[in-house]
Amino acid sequence: MICIPKCNPAHEKQYFGSNLTIKQFNNILSSNKAIKQFNNKNIAILGSTGSVGTQSLEVIGNNPELFRAFLLTAQSNADLLIAQALQFDPEYVVICDKSKYQYVKDALSKTTVKVLVGIEAIIETVTHPDIHIVLTAMVGFAGLEPTIAAIKAGKDIALANKETLVVAGELVTGLAKKHGVKILPVDSEHSAIFQCLAGEENNKIEKIILTASGGPFRSRSLTYLESVTREDALKHPNWVMGAKITIDSASLMNKGLEVIEAKWLFDLNANQVDVIVHPQSVIHSMVQFEDGSIKAQMGLPDMKLPIQYALTYPNRVKNDFKRFDFVNYPNLTFEKPDTVTFRNLALAFEALKQGGNMPCIINAANEIAVAGFLNKSIGFLAMSTVIEQCMQQIAYRESPDLEDYLNTDKETRIFAQNLIHQMPLKALQF
Ligand code: MG
Repeated sequence: MICIPKCNPAHEKQYFGSNLTIKQFNNILSSNKAIKQFNNKNIAILGSTGSVGTQSLEVIGNNPELFRAFLLTAQSNADLLIAQALQFDPEYVVICDKSKYQYVKDALSKTTVKVLVGIEAIIETVTHPDIHIVLTAMVGFAGLEPTIAAIKAGKDIALANKETLVVAGELVTGLAKKHGVKILPVDSEHSAIFQCLAGEENNKIEKIILTASGGPFRSRSLTYLESVTREDALKHPNWVMGAKITIDSASLMNKGLEVIEAKWLFDLNANQVDVIVHPQSVIHSMVQFEDGSIKAQMGLPDMKLPIQYALTYPNRVKNDFKRFDFVNYPNLTFEKPDTVTFRNLALAFEALKQGGNMPCIINAANEIAVAGFLNKSIGFLAMSTVIEQCMQQIAYRESPDLEDYLNTDKETRIFAQNLIHQMPLKALQF
């Protein structure tokens, strides 16, 4: 951090050998938010070995004068975590998989990096007083408790773990308000909306329009989807992402989760969120204001831009990311999403309307269903069947607290897992 001496008229001397007085230097500092706000921000990256995590480290590596990786955590990818620790020299690393702890500890024994183990260690370390921003990039429900701990400790959250808001949006946004912390979206669509809203604080949103690429199975029929494989679903046309979110994109559940995420991030109701399929993925989302004007945020599909904006907000910082060229995109097209074939999107809208613990139910059911599809226990369309069954069978709670969310998540996972085991593969195909 820049240490600014108190301005004393008796000591209006040159500052650090420059021609400026201390007062002049202080004035420049306070007018130049970019310098004042960014200098050596300590970043905690939860899920540093995943797709968003590694790209976040690229952003940090490109801006060493602005950011420092302070805490890195990984579920089980010990080798990459070790390599990242050697490169970025954080204060702490946490490996969740207890069986890999000694391996990571031995590998970093000649460094000053402190090695910790388990989710409990993450929940504790995110509250460290030196951390400025916690970037939550772990996958799924696991992000909830560390995010809550970080918010309670007053840390701003760069939110890449959308499941946190899907599962417990009311609780998390309420806590953020109470503790005066910012939730800065990293999800590209929500970052787009966030960027469109800059300077519009007093203007009402009529609706937001989330864009969806449509995934690898856009325009395909139900019959086609019956036999698609894990490998087919993992081929996303525009974005390079982790396995879970890539499957969610193929089934449109990712967009469903994003609809719920948007509701909480921007304080909207269900009928203020529209989804439109935009296969080129260059308009990242739009906001329509009450005068009918629409603002869109555009760019090449590259997660590093929303990551950087979340870390440098409200400023923008120069980078050398590849630039968008309109000439390469003469046709930008838009389609209505097919919610009959891709039922997950309709189910997510239904969960949003019902509220309570219903989004938590669809999230847990979806995590189990995606894992089942990835390990080839169920077919692609069966994922929606598992989710729908859970929505019908798990007890609905209108005003859940954290304990209710944890119970709902657990209950739903067990129910969904049993469903996958009990039902014959063929019966789960539609
Ligand atoms: Mg997204």
